[in-house]
Amino acid sequence: MTIFKERISPSLTVKDSDVKIPIHRIFCVGRNYHAHAAEMGVSVDKTKNVPFYFLKHPSAYVPSGSEIDYPLSTSNYHYEMELVLVIGKDGVNIDREKAWDYVYGVASGLDMTRRDLQLTARETNRPWDLGKDFEESAVIGEVVQLEPSKIENSDIKLSVNGEIKQDSNIELLIWNVPEILEHLSKFYHLEAGDVIFTGTPEGVGPVVSGDKLEGTITNVGSVHLTIK
Ligand code: MN
Repeated sequence: MTIFKERISPSLTVKDSDVKIPIHRIFCVGRNYHAHAAEMGVSVDKTKNVPFYFLKHPSAYVPSGSEIDYPLSTSNYHYEMELVLVIGKDGVNIDREKAWDYVYGVASGLDMTRRDLQLTARETNRPWDLGKDFEESAVIGEVVQLEPSKIENSDIKLSVNGEIKQDSNIELLIWNVPEILEHLSKFYHLEAGDVIFTGTPEGVGPVVSGDKLEGTITNVGSVHLTIK
């Protein structure tokens, strides 16, 4: 008898397929839409700034359709609707022209955030982990394989209890998919099974117990979440 549980990597499911994708790492891009940066009180100048990232532990993953508890130690729990990339081929120093070769598929995802803790961390020059990396904070729908052109102009939307809260377009990403992969792969040897949240558009806001969230990206699909 051991007191330690056996650990199995949580796995993503793939649309119309039996393939399961064990999650290796979860990278998240910060401030990747101008209108969201603005609502957070900052601005991004692509000619001067570079992308930045935070990570979530794979154990933070829950599948679309989950009913989750309101998390510990927050009174300002926010949704962030995002396009999620799933890496399907190992790569480092990836050229942006070849970047899509490394993407197995895409999904709709929610970067759930304890905004009060994130902002306290930001104001005190501390890491964002308590605000971002916690149980059930990475919600991801089915992975879809598609041609990159299929999402060039996709709408990205999030509704709470049927009311639209976020309504933007993938075209408004400050750093697009090839640029993110080119930049991130200068710092990490990306591996098949790595997951990347690409950032949220404007309109983030709080949820309360009983709320039902639905996020959609055109040609990608949806992600659903209920707060118990
Ligand atoms: Mn985010």
